Amino acid sequence: METILTIENLSKRYGRIQALKDVSFRVQKGHVYGILGPNGSGKSTTLGIVLNVVNKSSGNYSWFDGKMQTHDALKKVGAIIERPNFYPYMTAEENLKLVCKIKNINYSKVNEKLELVGLIERKMSKFSTFSLGMKQRLAIASALLNDPEILILDEPTNGLDPQGIHQIRDIIKKIASQGTTILLASHLLDEVEKVCSQVIVLRKGEILYSGSVDGMSSNESFFELQANDN
Ligand code: ATP
Repeated sequence: METILTIENLSKRYGRIQALKDVSFRVQKGHVYGILGPNGSGKSTTLGIVLNVVNKSSGNYSWFDGKMQTHDALKKVGAIIERPNFYPYMTAEENLKLVCKIKNINYSKVNEKLELVGLIERKMSKFSTFSLGMKQRLAIASALLNDPEILILDEPTNGLDPQGIHQIRDIIKKIASQGTTILLASHLLDEVEKVCSQVIVLRKGEILYSGSVDGMSSNESFFELQANDN
């Protein structure tokens, strides 16, 4: 089975704060992985390091069985780690076309991805008129324009209403069913249970559990997590 991402003994310090300590795990092709942990447990730091926007302190990571340098590998990675940022007075379609132009992607992908995230009917609407959930779905469409091998999402349903949450989770499952590997960070046990098959549980920068979501419920970390879920 192809390994998309390998992380070995990754550690990160921000001054006196040890944000990550000896974190190791693998992301195998075709699965949906959740990095689960409360605020401050090191989820965003982990994603930031592998996406080359945060410097590691020690340890290693490699993409695609180590066959590619990070710079090239990241061309095959779709990621949303910040609030979506589009031009407010341009339509959904225009915004995605602009991304295509910048990244040299065929415009034919725009409709395909808008359809996938359920926004095809709203493609002529200005971004500024979109709800938070629609903005997030447009960001997912944008991240998928170049058909990445893996989609990385940091807290994909944060701030959304129940309907928006439901839609995003359904879309993630649909993308996964089409063969795209997914790695998402969440502080919600419920989210990971509904969407992911594999989970890495982080607490204060260390891995408490790593394995199948089904196996997690028989692990002692599960009870602690349930107490923290909200
Ligand atoms: P959240 O959901 O709140 O972002 P998280 O699980 O993603 O939580 P991180 O954001 O990775 O956790 O933070 C891990 C630890 O590192 C926390 O103690 C945080 O305060 C600290 N930290 C993160 N970024 C920085 C930074 N740029 N400078 C200093 N400390 C930081």
